[in-house]
Amino acid sequence: MYHSTKYWHKLDDGRVQCDVCPRACKMHEGQRGLCFVRGVEDGEVRLYTYGRSSGFCVDPIEKKPLNHFLPGTSVLSFGTAGCNLACKFCQNWDMSKSREMDTLADRASPEQLAASAQRLGCASVAYTYNDPVVFMEYAIDVADACRERGVRSVAVTAGYMCPPPRAEFYAHMDAANVDLKGFTERFYRKICGAGLGEVLETLEYLKHEAKVWFEITTLLIPDENDSNPELEQMTRWIADKLGPDIPLHFTAFHPDWKMMDKQRTPAATLTRAREIALKNGLHYVYTGNVHDPAGASTYCASCGTRVIERDWYELGEWRLDKRARCLQCAAQLPGVFNGAPGTWGARRLPVRIAVEELSRSAV
Ligand code: SF4
Repeated sequence: MYHSTKYWHKLDDGRVQCDVCPRACKMHEGQRGLCFVRGVEDGEVRLYTYGRSSGFCVDPIEKKPLNHFLPGTSVLSFGTAGCNLACKFCQNWDMSKSREMDTLADRASPEQLAASAQRLGCASVAYTYNDPVVFMEYAIDVADACRERGVRSVAVTAGYMCPPPRAEFYAHMDAANVDLKGFTERFYRKICGAGLGEVLETLEYLKHEAKVWFEITTLLIPDENDSNPELEQMTRWIADKLGPDIPLHFTAFHPDWKMMDKQRTPAATLTRAREIALKNGLHYVYTGNVHDPAGASTYCASCGTRVIERDWYELGEWRLDKRARCLQCAAQLPGVFNGAPGTWGARRLPVRIAVEELSRSAV
């Protein structure tokens, strides 16, 4: 099963170039791109994972992580297979590096998926686990079906995408969490097989041209991207180019995939990074993947009141009014809010959409 795509062109030497991401794979008939889920057949680039998933799960939105987008609500997360980056530290490598279509055990049409999200009470659907850039046609159709039902769409992505498909993709998204994997071209080229410049361009595009709420995540890897000078440079760039209100999450690495020789990120590293970012003017900086209620909570940028207490994915005290203004000083908290917080908590609920559909049709 395949889906035709439109971002590609023919080269003079007979090959076909995919124009979805800056990797610009040039393929002969029958070849696949680096992501392995797009390939050339009958002279065109086709997507082979449309309608197929490596699994569905209802998560807290804080797990994406998004702290300023409908806090406390649940999100139906899913991914497919393949990725356009080659991060040596990939924390989802079983899916992102999968060349076995057997990992795509579940099937769902966009309409089925949107209906399931609505039935499960999810405020949004997240395209995650592997980068939705490589399955953009499927993600867009799901997002459209979701919009019709009042369910929003969240992209969890590395932001490595060419401008024309990017504009189309984000026109259908409501929120995004973009991985900023480091702040040197060396790290991007050597560790991720991608480029920093293109990702920064996507971040500026999201800030200045798209109507999408977005937050940034940086996974800190000991001795690779966690030095003070690099963190200084990164957080100054964010404050300067994107403004102080973009939430930034520093998360902890655990040894995985081709990076088993590194230690887990110490909690002290996340705290140090957070302090640097706050010093450089960012208002909302979080620590993640560690137990750190102080670093996971949200504080009013105007008066310093803790307005959302968070412990990992669990919300505690809520000190915002219905329009997300601080109860202490009435300053507006930036983000997307819908009155009171959701009550999903920290639960994680795996779902089989195909089974869901079957049991529904049997009722
Ligand atoms: S989306 Fe896949 S096939 Fe297309 S350029 Fe990127 S890695 Fe290559």
